[in-house]
Amino acid sequence: MSSLHCALARPLIVAGVLDGKPIGPRVAEHRDACLRCQATEARARATGRSLRKLELVGADAPPGMTTAVVSQLDDPPPAARRPVGVTFALVVAMAGLVVFLRRMRRR
Ligand SMILES: [Zn+2]
Repeated sequence: MSSLHCALARPLIVAGVLDGKPIGPRVAEHRDACLRCQATEARARATGRSLRKLELVGADAPPGMTTAVVSQLDDPPPAARRPVGVTFALVVAMAGLVVFLRRMRRR
């Protein structure tokens, strides 16, 4: 299945699990054929169980908040992915610095 289908189906699947919204036959058909979306559904169910436990402790979450939180966890915005490249560049720079300092000590 294409990632476009997954991108369209995932929020509906999560809303279906957490808010009880009907997902429709086409989304259900995609989910049944797509391991990624089945994994998304399983994560949403686990998250829903955890959030229900939290709700038993005290505060009630506003309607739709659960879906919004889970969808953010599932697909972090592009800006959230960028620091991985920056982190990798810093690690490479630090490794280069360590090698440089070791060579300087030998002299
Ligand atoms: Zn999918």
